Amino acid sequence: MERALAIGGNPSSVHGQGRAARAEVEQAREAVAALAGARAQDVVFTSGGTEANALALWGAAQGAMEAGTRITRLFVSAIEHDSVLANAAALAERAPGLRLETIPVTSDGVVDLDALRALLREGKGRALVAVMAANNETGVVQPIADVAALLKEHEGYLLVDAVQAIGKIPFAASTADYVSLSAHKLGGPQGVGALVVREGAPLAATIRGGGQERGHRAGTENVAGIAGFGAAAKVATPLPAALRDRFEAELRSAVPDVVIFGEKTTRLPNTSNFALPAVGAETAVMALDLEGVMVSSGSACSSGKVKPSHVLHAMSVPESIARSALRVSFGWNSTDQDVDAAISAISQLQSRVRSRAAA
Ligand code: PLP
Repeated sequence: MERALAIGGNPSSVHGQGRAARAEVEQAREAVAALAGARAQDVVFTSGGTEANALALWGAAQGAMEAGTRITRLFVSAIEHDSVLANAAALAERAPGLRLETIPVTSDGVVDLDALRALLREGKGRALVAVMAANNETGVVQPIADVAALLKEHEGYLLVDAVQAIGKIPFAASTADYVSLSAHKLGGPQGVGALVVREGAPLAATIRGGGQERGHRAGTENVAGIAGFGAAAKVATPLPAALRDRFEAELRSAVPDVVIFGEKTTRLPNTSNFALPAVGAETAVMALDLEGVMVSSGSACSSGKVKPSHVLHAMSVPESIARSALRVSFGWNSTDQDVDAAISAISQLQSRVRSRAAA
C-alpha cells in the first residue's frame, strides 16, 4: 500500500506514473480473481462489500431491463447482511412489477432449500436470488452449490455475498453470477471490495462517469486500497478451527448453560456466536472490553435502541436469548493466550452476574 501511495499517478493516465499505478491495480485484480476462482477481467473494484451488494442488485435489475429482459422475482435469504436486505427492499419498492420474497432458514441458520424450491416453482419470470456464502453473525456456511443447482431449473441469476467466506474457507465464484467481496474481512484495508460478475450476466453501472472498471463503476480507483486488497488476497489461506473449537469447549465447561448458535452445522472456522443466559449483550461487550477482550454483540444499535439480531430471529431464537448474543471472531494473529484471556474474563463476568442475582 505504501508503494502504491508513493506512485501517486492516476491509473487512467498514459504517462509513466499512471502506468505504474495501473500495474498495481491490475496485479491486485489478478490476485483477487485467483482467490475467488474467477477471471481477472470479471473483477470490478468497489468501495467495499456494501457497494458490491448494492451494485449487484440495482445493476442486475437495470442491466436486464437494458438488455430487453426483466427480473420480476427477487428472493433474498432472511439472514442476509443489511446491505442486501436494505437494497433489495428499496429496489422492490421502486422497480415496477418486481416481487420480493424472503427465503426462510432452519433453526441451525441454514437456508431452507425446500422453501426456496417451492418459491421458485410458485411463479414465473426471471428471478434474482441472493444467498450469502457464510453468515456474518453465526458463521454458518450456506449450501451455495445446491442453491445454484435449484436455480438451474429456472431462469434466473444468483448473487452470493462471499464477504465473510472468502479467504477463510475455499470458495469458487464459478457457481454464481455475482459475488461480493470485501478486503477488510481477510486482513486487507477497509473501504475497498469487489464484485465478481460472470461473463454475460447483466450489469448496468450505478455510479456513472469516467468509465473506469470497464464501465461498471466510474471513479478514479482507490489504488492503495486495491493494492492492499491484492496483497491480502495473495497471502490468504484457509483458517484452522482449532482456537474456536478450544474456546467453545472451555466456554461450555465454564458456563454449562451457554447457547452456541449454529454449532450443529458447518460454520466458518473463526466465528463463535453464543449467548450467556442472564447477561445482556451490551453489558457483556463493555465488561469484556474493560478486560481487553473485544467482542461484538449480535445486535445492531441504532438511535439508542438495541435491536435484536434479524439472523437469530430468523432461526427462531427467543428474543430473551437473542438479547444476550455475543460474537467472537478469531483472526490470523489470534493465539492460545487470547483464548485463555477471553475464557477467564467471561467466567468472571458470569460469576459476578450470578452472585449479584443471588444477592
Ligand atoms: N456482507 C457481509 C456478510 C458482511 O459481513 C459485511 C460487513 O460486515 C458486508 C457485506 C459489508 O461489507 P463492507 O463493510 O465492506 O461494506
